[in-house]
Amino acid sequence: SVVLYERSDVLGGQLRVAAAGPTREELLDFVTYLEGELRRLGVEIRLGAEAARAAVLADAPDLVVCAAGATPQPADVPVSGGGRVVTVWDLLGGVVGDLPSTALVADDGSGFWHSISAAEYLAQRGVQVELVTPAPGVGLAIPHESARNVATRLGSAGVDVRVLANVVSVDGARVSLAEGFGKKHTETEAGLVVVRTALRANDELARALEDAGPALATIGDASAPRRLNHAVLDANLAIRAFDAGRLRAAAAALS
Ligand SMILES: Cc1cc2nc3c(=O)[nH]c(=O)nc-3n(C[C@H](O)[C@H](O)[C@H](O)COP(=O)(O)OP(=O)(O)OC[C@H]3O[C@@H](n4cnc5c(N)ncnc54)[C@H](O)[C@@H]3O)c2cc1C
Repeated sequence: SVVLYERSDVLGGQLRVAAAGPTREELLDFVTYLEGELRRLGVEIRLGAEAARAAVLADAPDLVVCAAGATPQPADVPVSGGGRVVTVWDLLGGVVGDLPSTALVADDGSGFWHSISAAEYLAQRGVQVELVTPAPGVGLAIPHESARNVATRLGSAGVDVRVLANVVSVDGARVSLAEGFGKKHTETEAGLVVVRTALRANDELARALEDAGPALATIGDASAPRRLNHAVLDANLAIRAFDAGRLRAAAAALS
């Protein structure tokens, strides 16, 4: 029998944030599919339930799979004068209030969907957007079959782009940048700055359960923040390893 803890009131984790990006709604199909599988397989789902050491051990599990994901770190940018700086997760998670007429989205150079979706989300709501990246191009990690469509959409939404650029500080609506190989100081205006920050793996539960008795596996972003396919692969490998251990134990008991 399997128990699934989820601290929020819905399943899906960061996929729900990812699916808030324009054209990315279909990511929710995977959540819907997995919810159906959980029901079909009779998994007990505990929503609004924090998986903490005492609660987990009270269930006396043979195996604990820690899939607690990762937490976006706050933006590492000096802010003064009432400047508004939020993360991509805040924006796509719907917790940023009123949107101003101008915004700057700062990628960290990883070039994946995070800052593209943030820029499109804002543009779709009538905000004039500038997309800034330290990389030599925009969206360089987006799969090639999507890259052309992304470029077309950003272009028709009027999103301005600055490459080889980093945000240095935010003072009110004034955003200071370091641009180009020479890190030349430039400035632009934005009523909101949205930053693609780094993620920190949520490995507290795994560490709290070390040597507590049950077999332990840490999967997905809780192991190292990456992508959905890594989370699925980690899960498969963890269950196979656990099964192999059970089979070995059963064989040893028979011999
Ligand atoms: C904007 C954006 C776009 C993305 N696009 C893609 C993409 O195109 N392709 C791709 O492969 N990946 C993409 N990703 C990354 C992908 O969403 C993550 O890698 C994936 O969701 C990680 O899954 P996870 O289950 O490990 O963690 P999460 O999705 O973070 O889920 C962890 C869950 O655990 C819950 N939780 C945490 N701690 C506890 C606790 N103690 N007790 C109970 N519950 C707890 C959380 O509430 C959460 O629901 C994107 C991410 C973002 C933000």
